[in-house]
Amino acid sequence: MPFSACWVRYAERVLGRPITAHLCTAKSPQQVMGSLVKDYFARQQNLSPEKIFHVIVAPCYDKKLEALQESLPPALHGSRGADCVLTSGEIAQIMEQGDLSVRDAAVDTLFGDLKEDKVTRHDGASSDGHLAHIFRHAAKELFNEDVEEVTYRALRNKDFQEVTLEKNGEVVLRFAAAYGFRNIQNMILKLKKGKFPFHFVEVLACAGGCLNGRGQAQTPDGHADKALLRQMEGIYADIPVRRPESSAHVQELYQEWLEGINSPKAREVLHTTYQSQERGAHSLDIKW
Ligand code: SF4
Repeated sequence: MPFSACWVRYAERVLGRPITAHLCTAKSPQQVMGSLVKDYFARQQNLSPEKIFHVIVAPCYDKKLEALQESLPPALHGSRGADCVLTSGEIAQIMEQGDLSVRDAAVDTLFGDLKEDKVTRHDGASSDGHLAHIFRHAAKELFNEDVEEVTYRALRNKDFQEVTLEKNGEVVLRFAAAYGFRNIQNMILKLKKGKFPFHFVEVLACAGGCLNGRGQAQTPDGHADKALLRQMEGIYADIPVRRPESSAHVQELYQEWLEGINSPKAREVLHTTYQSQERGAHSLDIKW
């Protein structure tokens, strides 16, 4: 089951049902955040959703398209989950052009003054981490194995890796991480030939993940800024990790907002469907 937050439009429009039938139905983080702000937060603040202007800072331009095409939950009463999506590179440009600087200030949070309100990150080197979370969960639920460290093994290149769980000398779980379109295309070819041995694939459109997204700040001649990328990786690595299962906020959201883990509301807010066409019906000449 390939998982993705970002190559879904490509899969829907170019690859069609043979691939979308295998996609995980979890909504993208941006879509979930839209509902969280415009539904849960709006109600907490006693505001109607259209009184909130929700700006997302994203690592790529694809997120703008995603915001336009998202299907809107009825609870938003016609208001969009994200009203404006700016890339981090655009923010840097606006600041340079307006000669603006940033002052140190406390970060506003959605959850009042609870002690958990400091910046934390999920497991993983950058935008990855879904694989590790689902791998641990599957190992525990299906095989009663506690996996603390998830170990990646590079296959064809550093952006195509696998993670396995062995039991009694046999591989019982085989997951893969496929980043960048070269690896995605290889994955699709194998999937179509029925020679794809993975139970789950974490897919990201950019080689290296979101820190390397095309909307991030670039060098003056328009290339990825490698020094900045290394700096971002270092800053990201220094942020403390908090796994979702240990967050009181996540539990609180499930109880207070989503009315339980498998409730109709949770399915509506957290899951989506795909509109795919038969392969070739709307083939786009997209250059990735
Ligand atoms: S991997 Fe690339 S395309 Fe996908 S969300 Fe991240 S920056 Fe955007």
